[in-house]
Amino acid sequence: MHSDILIIGGGIVGSAIAYHLARGGRSGDIIVVEPDPTYALAATPRGNGGIRQLFSLPENIAMAQYGLSFFRRFETDMAVDGDPAPIGFRRQGYLFISDRGGERQMENNFRLQAANGVGADCLDRDALQARFPSLRTDDVALAVHSPDDAWIDPYAALQGFRRKARSLGVRYLTDAVVDWRGDGHLARRAILASGATVDADIHVLAAGAWSADIGAMIGLALPVEPMARETHFFRPAAKIEKLPFIKTESHLAFRPEGGGFAGGLPDWSVSAGWNFDASPDGFEKIVWPAVAHRVPALETLKLERTWVGHYARNTLDLSAIVGAWTGGFENVFMAVGFSGHGIMHAPAAGRALAELILDGGFQTLDLSRFGWSRVPEARPYRERSIV
Ligand SMILES: Cc1cc2nc3c(=O)[nH]c(=O)nc-3n(C[C@H](O)[C@H](O)[C@H](O)COP(=O)(O)OP(=O)(O)OC[C@H]3O[C@@H](n4cnc5c(N)ncnc54)[C@H](O)[C@@H]3O)c2cc1C
Repeated sequence: MHSDILIIGGGIVGSAIAYHLARGGRSGDIIVVEPDPTYALAATPRGNGGIRQLFSLPENIAMAQYGLSFFRRFETDMAVDGDPAPIGFRRQGYLFISDRGGERQMENNFRLQAANGVGADCLDRDALQARFPSLRTDDVALAVHSPDDAWIDPYAALQGFRRKARSLGVRYLTDAVVDWRGDGHLARRAILASGATVDADIHVLAAGAWSADIGAMIGLALPVEPMARETHFFRPAAKIEKLPFIKTESHLAFRPEGGGFAGGLPDWSVSAGWNFDASPDGFEKIVWPAVAHRVPALETLKLERTWVGHYARNTLDLSAIVGAWTGGFENVFMAVGFSGHGIMHAPAAGRALAELILDGGFQTLDLSRFGWSRVPEARPYRERSIV
């Protein structure tokens, strides 16, 4: 079959691209190839859904700001035939805590964030204690609280994008790309597991942590690898004040979820690769002590569930690669390597890539510095906030 645009991967990034391409009615036919409409193994439903402006790179801040305003209106903007698309948008803020000597960097980031329109507060120990009395603060040098930040239900957002894109004419094929071919300067054809083929004028790779394997089929060598991350849902015994999404320099990350909390403490020493098995005692030995250290009232809690998802980690610099495959097949575009930020950055990446494809250049958000060329040139554009 033939399509004007082929998108490989229909997670939140691929679906946000499909939606932004289709919404202006200028894109022609769009096919999204996605093997699993339940998204059982995809990163999106396994992510925490946090949207925060607390980055050090202006692009990452701007993309999060676009994501915040987009997701705030999502329920009504993504309605189909009057049926709304609720995503549980919750503006409950983010709190970054410096507890491992990085306070100067956090303060510099704070200044840059303020200059980029982020309404955050830089808090010393006393101010932090006064604002969130349940926190232990004696080992905290500094904290930054961004009250406008939020979180959403990422699975609902993915399904909302998908449903809206389909209502605009995008076709989702339940199939997998098993080979990808091109010649001369152009990618030509994707071969699917079913035996079907899709020829397209424009090819877009957005397959999350699977992207490197698929890119390799046409010689696109991406520095993107799957990194397993455990998340735990636990309920406190005691009542605790309303907390924001907390992230510390010592890698603890958790946020309120229903009547409890969801989060974890990633082990950065674990080697890359697929692994969906949760460690039998990781929560008890590592996460719980860290959580109880930061919030002593969580000394008593009940662990209810643990699950594993995979970051698509960009090993060059932990930020997304968005743009054209410059120097390769000239009709191949990519939005890959989002590491831990792909939910909040999906709307901006979708819009930017749609502009690049349809208008020939970025119009609203200039993501040139996130382009492919930094990979062959080994020129990292490094994020300096807590990742
Ligand atoms: C524990 C954890 C917490 C996170 N927390 C946050 C957070 O708070 N905020 C945030 O913004 N981000 C967060 N993230 C990151 C976020 O989940 C990802 O960056 C985002 O979901 C990536 O979306 P995606 O569409 O690129 O990938 P995915 O959702 O993984 O989608 C990729 C799709 O490609 C498909 N695919 C695979 N093989 C093929 C093939 N051969 N052909 C066609 N399609 C294929 C897959 O089926 C899949 O559906 C978190 C991630 C994890 C693991």
